[in-house]
Amino acid sequence: MAETPLDLFLDAPALTARLVDFPSVSGGEKALADAVEEALRALPHLTVDRYGNNVVARTNLGRAERVILAGHIDTVPIADNVPSRLDENGVLWGCGTSDMKSGVAVQLRIAATVPEPNRDLTFVFYDNEEVAAHLNGLGHVADAHPDWLTGDFAVLLEPSDGQVEGGCQGTLRVLLRTAGERAHSARGWMGSNAIHTAAPILARLAAYEPRRPVIDGLEYREGLNAVAIEGGVAGNVIPDACTVTVNFRYAPDRSEQEALAHVREVFADCDIAEFVVDDHSGAALPGLSHPAAAAFMAAVGGTAQPKFGWTDVSRFSAVGVPAVNYGPGNPLLAHKRDEHVAVERITHCEERLRAWLTA
Ligand SMILES: [Zn+2]
Repeated sequence: MAETPLDLFLDAPALTARLVDFPSVSGGEKALADAVEEALRALPHLTVDRYGNNVVARTNLGRAERVILAGHIDTVPIADNVPSRLDENGVLWGCGTSDMKSGVAVQLRIAATVPEPNRDLTFVFYDNEEVAAHLNGLGHVADAHPDWLTGDFAVLLEPSDGQVEGGCQGTLRVLLRTAGERAHSARGWMGSNAIHTAAPILARLAAYEPRRPVIDGLEYREGLNAVAIEGGVAGNVIPDACTVTVNFRYAPDRSEQEALAHVREVFADCDIAEFVVDDHSGAALPGLSHPAAAAFMAAVGGTAQPKFGWTDVSRFSAVGVPAVNYGPGNPLLAHKRDEHVAVERITHCEERLRAWLTA
């Protein structure tokens, strides 16, 4: 589609429209990554690195603090909603308007128009966020070039409707397998029923009182829940196996090891034959007590909200950088056929970040 490089001196809404008209469904980001790289390389105050279809640009002013502005450049598949369309009410429609090319446009605008920020800046543009976690470009950069992600604080411009969402909860999924002995159900006393053995696990879950810890002023809500149960052989057989799948969503004051230890402890006196960790992604601290974050909160205003789902902020946390989500898109519109964003939101987000970085 687009042949010419991006014009970073368009205003942010116009630049958002330009980015939306540059399709970049996950796996097909190369052309957009090329354009972003080319546009950034034209800015003499930035050094630019590239790894795959991930582009990282930095100022090197020797400032006391360094903050990171990050966003993914991919979108979910297009649903007859490209090219973009600006309506008479100042709403821009199209794939990626909310999630998250409006955020990427704001990043690019700050990169182009704030050559002497009060904090050193690192801009991260990465691919494959909307697909399997092992493909995630931010994860690849963190593995291959962790030094590119060093900083004091990071802002992910994911759609958050202009709210600051701090940190994120961790998620742990375990399989609790119980064992028994098969027998004909007409002579059940000859066997041992693995589904019945799972009953104390369910009782423990039903009685579980989740914590609501307050961290950096944000209240998180944990949850320990069965999300699946599997067992049974046939209508006339005492089952010899049962698996309860349990998901623990935990607050960022627990490490991955502590979360796992807690779940083991909850079920310590249940008769579990096998305890399997099926999936585990750690939590991220909001880090709002850091001076850079406090200045950010003062500039953007409002009250931070805790993030209950798992997001890429925890990839920053894993490399020691506290991070928040703050972006102009509306998360409720992400991935929808009628995805859109209010132009006024984009402009507001850019103004607030500019105020923070130039005060
Ligand atoms: Zn997104």
